Amino acid sequence: MKFTFHGGAQEVGRSCINLCSNGYSVLLDCGIKLTSKAPEYPQLPGRVDSFILSHAHLDHCGMVPALYKQFLCPLYATDISFDISHILQRDSLKITLSEGFAPEYDYDDIGLSSMGENPVGYNERVELNSKLSFELFDAGHIPGSASVLLDVVEGGVSRKVLYTGDIKTSDTRLLDAATVPEADILISESTYGNRVHPDRKSLEERLLAEVEKTLDGGGNAVLASFALGRTQELLLILNDLGYPVYLDGMGADLTKLMLQYPHYLRDAKALRKAVRNVVWVEHNGMRKQAIREPSIIVSTAGMLTGGPVWYYLKKLCGDVRSSLFLTGYQVEGTNGRLLLDEGYVVDPRGGERIDVRMRVEYLDFSAHAGRHSLERMVERISPDRCILVHGDAESCSSLGEFTQGVCETFIPEVGSSIEF
Ligand SMILES: [Zn+2]
Ligand SMILES: [Zn+2]
Repeated sequence: MKFTFHGGAQEVGRSCINLCSNGYSVLLDCGIKLTSKAPEYPQLPGRVDSFILSHAHLDHCGMVPALYKQFLCPLYATDISFDISHILQRDSLKITLSEGFAPEYDYDDIGLSSMGENPVGYNERVELNSKLSFELFDAGHIPGSASVLLDVVEGGVSRKVLYTGDIKTSDTRLLDAATVPEADILISESTYGNRVHPDRKSLEERLLAEVEKTLDGGGNAVLASFALGRTQELLLILNDLGYPVYLDGMGADLTKLMLQYPHYLRDAKALRKAVRNVVWVEHNGMRKQAIREPSIIVSTAGMLTGGPVWYYLKKLCGDVRSSLFLTGYQVEGTNGRLLLDEGYVVDPRGGERIDVRMRVEYLDFSAHAGRHSLERMVERISPDRCILVHGDAESCSSLGEFTQGVCETFIPEVGSSIEF
Protein backbone atom coordinates (compact mmCIF):
# COMPACT_ATOMS: atom_id res chain seq x y z
CA MET A 1 0.00 0.00 0.00
CA LYS A 2 1.14 3.49 -0.79
CA PHE A 3 0.27 6.67 1.11
CA THR A 4 0.76 10.08 -0.47
CA PHE A 5 0.43 13.23 1.62
CA HIS A 6 -1.07 15.99 -0.50
CA GLY A 7 -1.49 18.37 2.44
CA GLY A 8 -1.64 18.55 6.23
CA ALA A 9 1.89 17.14 6.61
CA GLN A 10 4.08 19.17 9.01
CA GLU A 11 1.35 21.79 8.90
CA VAL A 12 -2.21 22.28 10.12
CA GLY A 13 -4.46 22.88 7.13
CA ARG A 14 -5.44 21.34 3.74
CA SER A 15 -5.46 17.78 5.14
CA CYS A 16 -5.46 15.34 2.22
CA ILE A 17 -4.06 11.79 2.24
CA ASN A 18 -4.21 9.32 -0.63
CA LEU A 19 -4.08 5.55 -0.06
CA CYS A 20 -3.48 3.33 -3.09
CA SER A 21 -3.88 -0.42 -2.76
CA ASN A 22 -4.39 -3.08 -5.44
CA GLY A 23 -4.80 -0.32 -8.02
CA TYR A 24 -7.63 1.35 -6.05
CA SER A 25 -7.27 4.98 -4.94
CA VAL A 26 -9.04 6.27 -1.81
CA LEU A 27 -8.66 9.83 -0.57
CA LEU A 28 -8.93 10.72 3.13
CA ASP A 29 -10.02 14.36 3.64
CA CYS A 30 -9.62 17.24 1.20
CA GLY A 31 -9.32 20.56 3.00
CA ILE A 32 -8.03 24.07 2.54
CA LYS A 33 -5.48 26.03 4.52
CA LEU A 34 -6.71 29.42 5.62
CA THR A 35 -3.98 32.00 5.90
CA SER A 36 -3.98 35.79 6.19
CA LYS A 37 -3.34 35.84 2.42
CA ALA A 38 -4.86 33.57 -0.28
CA PRO A 39 -6.15 30.16 0.88
CA GLU A 40 -3.82 27.23 0.08
CA TYR A 41 -5.08 24.02 -1.51
CA PRO A 42 -3.78 20.46 -1.75
CA GLN A 43 -2.50 19.23 -5.11
CA LEU A 44 -5.11 16.59 -6.03
CA PRO A 45 -3.94 13.14 -7.22
CA GLY A 46 -4.56 12.00 -10.80
CA ARG A 47 -7.17 9.46 -9.81
CA VAL A 48 -9.66 9.08 -6.94
CA ASP A 49 -12.07 6.11 -6.75
CA SER A 50 -13.59 6.93 -3.33
CA PHE A 51 -13.41 9.75 -0.82
CA ILE A 52 -13.82 9.56 2.97
CA LEU A 53 -14.29 12.70 5.10
CA SER A 54 -13.27 12.61 8.78
CA HIS A 55 -15.18 15.75 9.83
CA ALA A 56 -16.61 19.06 8.69
CA HIS A 57 -13.86 21.55 9.57
CA LEU A 58 -12.66 23.44 6.49
CA ASP A 59 -9.08 22.18 6.82
CA HIS A 60 -10.60 18.74 6.05
CA CYS A 61 -13.69 19.43 3.89
CA GLY A 62 -12.96 22.80 2.24
CA MET A 63 -12.05 21.34 -1.18
CA VAL A 64 -14.67 18.58 -1.44
CA PRO A 65 -16.89 20.33 -4.05
CA ALA A 66 -13.84 20.80 -6.31
CA LEU A 67 -12.83 17.17 -5.76
CA TYR A 68 -16.30 15.89 -6.63
CA LYS A 69 -16.52 18.06 -9.73
CA GLN A 70 -13.27 16.56 -10.99
CA PHE A 71 -13.73 12.86 -10.12
CA LEU A 72 -17.49 12.32 -9.54
CA CYS A 73 -16.47 9.66 -7.01
CA PRO A 74 -18.60 8.42 -4.09
CA LEU A 75 -18.17 10.54 -0.94
CA TYR A 76 -18.47 8.96 2.54
CA ALA A 77 -18.96 10.71 5.91
CA THR A 78 -21.48 10.90 8.75
CA ASP A 79 -24.77 12.60 7.78
CA ILE A 80 -24.20 15.61 10.07
CA SER A 81 -20.69 16.12 8.62
CA PHE A 82 -22.17 16.53 5.14
CA ASP A 83 -24.76 19.03 6.42
CA ILE A 84 -22.25 21.11 8.39
CA SER A 85 -19.69 21.01 5.56
CA HIS A 86 -22.19 22.67 3.18
CA ILE A 87 -22.70 25.57 5.59
CA LEU A 88 -18.96 26.06 6.05
CA GLN A 89 -18.15 25.66 2.33
CA ARG A 90 -20.72 28.33 1.41
CA ASP A 91 -19.35 30.66 4.07
CA SER A 92 -15.77 30.06 2.94
CA LEU A 93 -16.71 30.68 -0.70
CA LYS A 94 -18.39 33.95 0.28
CA ILE A 95 -15.26 35.10 2.12
CA THR A 96 -12.93 33.99 -0.72
CA LEU A 97 -15.02 35.98 -3.22
CA SER A 98 -15.28 39.04 -0.96
CA GLU A 99 -11.49 39.09 -0.53
CA GLY A 100 -11.00 38.99 -4.29
CA PHE A 101 -9.37 35.54 -4.53
CA ALA A 102 -10.26 33.04 -7.28
CA PRO A 103 -12.26 30.18 -5.68
CA GLU A 104 -11.76 26.52 -6.64
CA TYR A 105 -15.54 25.96 -6.94
CA ASP A 106 -18.83 27.88 -7.02
CA TYR A 107 -22.18 27.65 -5.19
CA ASP A 108 -23.57 25.21 -7.80
CA ASP A 109 -20.63 22.85 -7.21
CA ILE A 110 -21.50 22.66 -3.49
CA GLY A 111 -25.02 21.60 -4.46
CA LEU A 112 -23.69 19.15 -7.07
CA SER A 113 -21.40 17.42 -4.55
CA SER A 114 -24.43 16.30 -2.52
CA MET A 115 -25.25 13.92 -5.42
CA GLY A 116 -22.18 11.86 -4.49
CA GLU A 117 -22.81 11.75 -0.74
CA ASN A 118 -23.25 8.45 1.09
CA PRO A 119 -23.96 8.99 4.80
CA VAL A 120 -22.31 6.37 7.02
CA GLY A 121 -22.99 5.73 10.72
CA TYR A 122 -20.34 4.94 13.32
CA ASN A 123 -19.27 1.26 13.44
CA GLU A 124 -20.91 0.49 10.12
CA ARG A 125 -18.71 -1.48 7.70
CA VAL A 126 -18.52 -0.19 4.12
CA GLU A 127 -16.93 -2.36 1.40
CA LEU A 128 -15.20 -0.27 -1.27
CA ASN A 129 -14.06 -3.44 -3.07
CA SER A 130 -13.38 -7.08 -2.14
CA LYS A 131 -9.99 -6.13 -0.65
CA LEU A 132 -10.69 -2.76 0.90
CA SER A 133 -13.32 -1.80 3.48
CA PHE A 134 -13.64 0.80 6.23
CA GLU A 135 -15.52 1.74 9.40
CA LEU A 136 -15.96 5.13 11.09
CA PHE A 137 -15.39 5.54 14.84
CA ASP A 138 -16.49 8.51 16.96
CA ALA A 139 -13.47 10.86 17.21
CA GLY A 140 -14.92 13.08 20.00
CA HIS A 141 -13.66 16.26 18.25
CA ILE A 142 -16.84 17.93 16.91
CA PRO A 143 -20.34 16.46 16.38
CA GLY A 144 -20.11 13.78 13.67
CA SER A 145 -16.31 13.69 13.64
CA ALA A 146 -14.83 10.31 12.82
CA SER A 147 -11.62 8.32 12.81
CA VAL A 148 -11.38 6.02 9.79
CA LEU A 149 -10.35 2.37 10.24
CA LEU A 150 -9.45 0.83 6.88
CA ASP A 151 -9.09 -2.91 6.39
CA VAL A 152 -6.61 -3.45 3.56
CA VAL A 153 -6.01 -6.95 2.12
CA GLU A 154 -2.83 -7.42 0.07
CA GLY A 155 -1.34 -10.79 -0.91
CA GLY A 156 -3.87 -12.57 1.31
CA VAL A 157 -2.75 -10.56 4.39
CA SER A 158 -5.18 -8.16 6.07
CA ARG A 159 -3.83 -5.03 7.76
CA LYS A 160 -5.71 -2.35 9.67
CA VAL A 161 -4.94 1.31 9.02
CA LEU A 162 -6.33 3.86 11.47
CA TYR A 163 -6.52 7.51 10.42
CA THR A 164 -7.45 9.45 13.58
CA GLY A 165 -8.66 12.61 11.81
CA ASP A 166 -8.80 15.29 14.53
CA ILE A 167 -9.35 13.51 17.82
CA LYS A 168 -10.25 14.22 21.46
CA THR A 169 -9.78 11.26 23.77
CA SER A 170 -11.45 12.76 26.85
CA ASP A 171 -15.07 13.83 27.49
CA THR A 172 -16.14 17.45 27.09
CA ARG A 173 -19.48 19.01 28.06
CA LEU A 174 -20.65 18.62 24.46
CA LEU A 175 -19.21 15.27 23.36
CA ASP A 176 -18.16 11.86 24.59
CA ALA A 177 -14.50 10.89 24.31
CA ALA A 178 -13.31 9.19 21.13
CA THR A 179 -13.63 5.44 20.64
CA VAL A 180 -10.20 4.27 19.49
CA PRO A 181 -9.88 0.86 17.79
CA GLU A 182 -6.68 -1.23 17.38
CA ALA A 183 -4.58 -0.93 14.22
CA ASP A 184 -1.34 -2.07 12.58
CA ILE A 185 -0.63 1.29 10.96
CA LEU A 186 -1.61 4.51 12.74
CA ILE A 187 -1.90 7.88 11.00
CA SER A 188 -2.27 10.30 13.89
CA GLU A 189 -2.96 13.98 14.19
CA SER A 190 -0.26 15.86 16.13
CA THR A 191 -1.76 19.32 16.68
CA TYR A 192 -0.77 19.32 20.35
CA GLY A 193 2.19 16.96 19.89
CA ASN A 194 4.37 19.19 22.08
CA ARG A 195 1.83 20.79 24.42
CA VAL A 196 -0.44 19.73 27.26
CA HIS A 197 -3.85 21.20 28.08
CA PRO A 198 -4.83 22.72 31.41
CA ASP A 199 -7.32 20.79 33.54
CA ARG A 200 -10.75 21.16 31.97
CA LYS A 201 -12.71 21.49 35.21
CA SER A 202 -10.58 24.34 36.56
CA LEU A 203 -10.73 26.03 33.15
CA GLU A 204 -14.54 26.00 33.30
CA GLU A 205 -14.49 27.35 36.86
CA ARG A 206 -12.12 30.14 35.82
CA LEU A 207 -14.39 31.11 32.93
CA LEU A 208 -17.47 31.28 35.14
CA ALA A 209 -15.67 33.26 37.85
CA GLU A 210 -14.27 35.79 35.36
CA VAL A 211 -17.60 36.24 33.56
CA GLU A 212 -19.37 36.80 36.87
CA LYS A 213 -16.70 39.30 38.00
CA THR A 214 -17.19 41.25 34.76
CA LEU A 215 -20.97 41.38 35.15
CA ASP A 216 -20.68 42.39 38.82
CA GLY A 217 -18.37 45.22 37.79
CA GLY A 218 -20.98 46.52 35.32
CA GLY A 219 -19.21 45.35 32.15
CA ASN A 220 -19.98 43.12 29.16
CA ALA A 221 -18.37 39.71 28.83
CA VAL A 222 -17.64 39.03 25.16
CA LEU A 223 -16.60 35.47 24.33
CA ALA A 224 -14.96 35.13 20.92
CA SER A 225 -15.78 31.60 19.87
CA PHE A 226 -15.47 29.10 17.02
CA ALA A 227 -18.93 28.46 15.57
CA LEU A 228 -18.65 24.70 15.44
CA GLY A 229 -18.44 22.90 18.77
CA ARG A 230 -16.87 25.57 20.98
CA THR A 231 -19.95 27.82 20.87
CA GLN A 232 -22.25 24.98 21.95
CA GLU A 233 -19.84 23.92 24.67
CA LEU A 234 -19.69 27.47 26.03
CA LEU A 235 -23.50 27.61 26.10
CA LEU A 236 -23.51 24.43 28.21
CA ILE A 237 -20.93 25.84 30.64
CA LEU A 238 -22.46 29.32 30.87
CA ASN A 239 -25.87 27.83 31.56
CA ASP A 240 -24.61 27.16 35.10
CA LEU A 241 -24.76 30.93 35.73
CA GLY A 242 -28.42 31.17 34.72
CA TYR A 243 -28.10 34.52 32.89
CA PRO A 244 -29.32 35.10 29.32
CA VAL A 245 -26.62 34.68 26.66
CA TYR A 246 -26.61 36.73 23.46
CA LEU A 247 -25.54 34.43 20.62
CA ASP A 248 -24.26 36.13 17.48
CA GLY A 249 -22.77 34.85 14.19
CA MET A 250 -22.64 31.47 12.49
CA GLY A 251 -22.61 29.61 15.82
CA ALA A 252 -26.37 30.25 16.01
CA ASP A 253 -27.16 28.33 12.78
CA LEU A 254 -24.86 25.49 13.75
CA THR A 255 -26.43 25.20 17.21
CA LYS A 256 -29.87 24.82 15.61
CA LEU A 257 -28.49 22.24 13.15
CA MET A 258 -26.86 20.20 15.93
CA LEU A 259 -30.13 19.95 17.78
CA GLN A 260 -31.51 18.16 14.69
CA TYR A 261 -28.90 15.43 15.31
CA PRO A 262 -29.21 14.80 19.07
CA HIS A 263 -27.58 11.35 18.97
CA TYR A 264 -24.17 12.91 18.19
CA LEU A 265 -24.28 14.95 21.42
CA ARG A 266 -23.34 13.74 24.89
CA ASP A 267 -26.40 15.38 26.42
CA ALA A 268 -28.76 16.89 23.86
CA LYS A 269 -31.27 17.63 26.61
CA ALA A 270 -28.75 19.86 28.40
CA LEU A 271 -28.01 21.76 25.18
CA ARG A 272 -31.74 22.22 24.55
CA LYS A 273 -32.06 23.59 28.08
CA ALA A 274 -29.08 25.93 27.61
CA VAL A 275 -30.59 27.20 24.35
CA ARG A 276 -33.67 28.35 26.28
CA ASN A 277 -31.44 31.04 27.82
CA VAL A 278 -30.15 32.19 24.41
CA VAL A 279 -31.09 35.50 22.81
CA TRP A 280 -30.50 35.02 19.06
CA VAL A 281 -28.82 38.16 17.71
CA GLU A 282 -29.83 38.84 14.13
CA HIS A 283 -29.16 42.54 13.42
CA ASN A 284 -27.34 45.62 14.69
CA GLY A 285 -30.37 46.77 16.70
CA MET A 286 -30.05 43.65 18.81
CA ARG A 287 -26.29 44.14 19.13
CA LYS A 288 -26.93 47.61 20.49
CA GLN A 289 -29.40 46.13 22.96
CA ALA A 290 -26.88 43.45 23.96
CA ILE A 291 -24.34 45.98 25.23
CA ARG A 292 -26.81 48.42 26.80
CA GLU A 293 -26.39 46.71 30.17
CA PRO A 294 -24.06 44.08 31.68
CA SER A 295 -24.42 40.96 29.54
CA ILE A 296 -22.78 37.79 28.20
CA ILE A 297 -22.18 37.70 24.44
CA VAL A 298 -20.89 34.68 22.50
CA SER A 299 -19.85 35.56 18.97
CA THR A 300 -17.69 34.48 16.02
CA ALA A 301 -14.94 34.70 14.84
CA GLY A 302 -12.98 32.75 17.45
CA MET A 303 -9.63 34.23 16.39
CA LEU A 304 -11.00 37.74 15.72
CA THR A 305 -10.39 37.31 11.98
CA GLY A 306 -13.77 38.96 11.21
CA GLY A 307 -17.44 38.36 12.02
CA PRO A 308 -19.80 40.15 14.42
CA VAL A 309 -17.36 39.95 17.34
CA TRP A 310 -15.83 43.04 15.72
CA TYR A 311 -18.99 45.05 16.37
CA TYR A 312 -18.55 44.45 20.12
CA LEU A 313 -14.80 44.95 19.98
CA LYS A 314 -15.17 48.38 18.41
CA LYS A 315 -17.99 49.49 20.70
CA LEU A 316 -16.41 48.24 23.91
CA CYS A 317 -12.71 48.98 23.35
CA GLY A 318 -11.54 51.28 26.09
CA ASP A 319 -14.25 50.06 28.48
CA VAL A 320 -12.08 48.67 31.25
CA ARG A 321 -15.09 47.12 32.98
CA SER A 322 -15.67 44.79 30.02
CA SER A 323 -13.82 41.55 29.19
CA LEU A 324 -12.90 39.80 25.99
CA PHE A 325 -12.39 36.04 26.25
CA LEU A 326 -10.40 34.12 23.65
CA THR A 327 -11.72 30.59 24.06
CA GLY A 328 -9.39 28.53 21.87
CA TYR A 329 -6.00 28.30 20.25
CA GLN A 330 -4.99 31.49 18.40
CA VAL A 331 -3.08 30.77 15.18
CA GLU A 332 0.02 32.80 14.30
CA GLY A 333 -0.89 35.76 12.07
CA THR A 334 -4.47 36.15 13.37
CA ASN A 335 -5.77 39.14 15.32
CA GLY A 336 -6.37 36.92 18.33
CA ARG A 337 -2.68 36.04 18.50
CA LEU A 338 -1.70 39.67 17.89
CA LEU A 339 -3.88 40.73 20.81
CA LEU A 340 -2.29 38.18 23.15
CA ASP A 341 1.26 39.01 22.05
CA GLU A 342 1.08 42.78 21.50
CA GLY A 343 -2.14 43.97 23.14
CA TYR A 344 -3.74 45.42 20.01
CA VAL A 345 -5.65 44.27 16.90
CA VAL A 346 -5.82 45.48 13.29
CA ASP A 347 -9.27 46.11 11.80
CA PRO A 348 -9.66 43.54 8.95
CA ARG A 349 -11.76 46.08 7.02
CA GLY A 350 -10.04 49.45 7.56
CA GLY A 351 -6.56 48.23 8.44
CA GLU A 352 -6.23 50.63 11.39
CA ARG A 353 -4.72 49.60 14.70
CA ILE A 354 -7.13 49.32 17.63
CA ASP A 355 -5.93 49.28 21.24
CA VAL A 356 -8.47 47.05 22.90
CA ARG A 357 -8.00 48.14 26.53
CA MET A 358 -10.61 45.70 27.81
CA ARG A 359 -9.62 42.87 30.13
CA VAL A 360 -8.42 40.04 27.86
CA GLU A 361 -8.54 36.43 29.05
CA TYR A 362 -7.17 33.44 27.14
CA LEU A 363 -8.78 30.08 27.93
CA ASP A 364 -7.47 26.98 26.15
CA PHE A 365 -10.67 24.99 25.56
CA SER A 366 -9.24 22.59 23.01
CA ALA A 367 -11.07 19.98 20.90
CA HIS A 368 -7.80 18.12 20.30
CA ALA A 369 -6.01 15.54 22.43
CA GLY A 370 -3.03 17.05 24.24
CA ARG A 371 0.44 15.51 24.34
CA HIS A 372 -0.22 13.14 27.26
CA SER A 373 -3.46 11.86 25.72
CA LEU A 374 -1.73 11.27 22.37
CA GLU A 375 0.99 9.32 24.16
CA ARG A 376 -1.57 7.14 25.93
CA MET A 377 -3.46 6.58 22.66
CA VAL A 378 -0.33 5.44 20.78
CA GLU A 379 0.69 3.13 23.64
CA ARG A 380 -2.76 1.58 23.80
CA ILE A 381 -2.99 0.98 20.03
CA SER A 382 0.64 -0.15 19.95
CA PRO A 383 0.84 -0.17 16.13
CA ASP A 384 3.74 -1.51 14.06
CA ARG A 385 4.06 1.83 12.31
CA CYS A 386 2.98 5.35 13.06
CA ILE A 387 2.71 8.30 10.66
CA LEU A 388 2.41 11.75 12.23
CA VAL A 389 0.42 14.44 10.39
CA HIS A 390 -1.74 17.54 11.15
CA GLY A 391 0.76 19.41 13.31
CA ASP A 392 3.52 21.93 12.72
CA ALA A 393 7.03 20.50 12.24
CA GLU A 394 7.91 21.05 15.91
CA SER A 395 4.79 19.29 17.24
CA CYS A 396 5.32 16.33 14.90
CA SER A 397 9.00 15.88 15.74
CA SER A 398 8.40 16.27 19.47
CA LEU A 399 5.64 13.63 19.43
CA GLY A 400 7.79 11.52 17.09
CA GLU A 401 10.54 11.32 19.75
CA PHE A 402 7.99 9.55 21.93
CA THR A 403 6.35 7.31 19.29
CA GLN A 404 9.79 6.07 18.12
CA GLY A 405 10.00 4.24 21.43
CA VAL A 406 6.74 2.43 20.62
CA CYS A 407 6.97 1.74 16.87
CA GLU A 408 8.58 2.72 13.57
CA THR A 409 7.68 6.40 13.04
CA PHE A 410 7.31 8.52 9.91
CA ILE A 411 6.88 12.30 9.64
CA PRO A 412 6.13 12.95 5.96
CA GLU A 413 6.37 16.25 4.08
CA VAL A 414 3.70 17.62 1.76
CA GLY A 415 3.97 15.85 -1.59
CA SER A 416 5.91 12.85 -0.26
CA SER A 417 4.86 9.17 -0.31
CA ILE A 418 5.41 6.19 1.96
CA GLU A 419 5.08 2.62 0.68
CA PHE A 420 4.79 -0.49 2.86
ZN1 LIG B 1 -11.01 19.71 13.19
ZN1 LIG C 1 -8.03 19.83 11.48
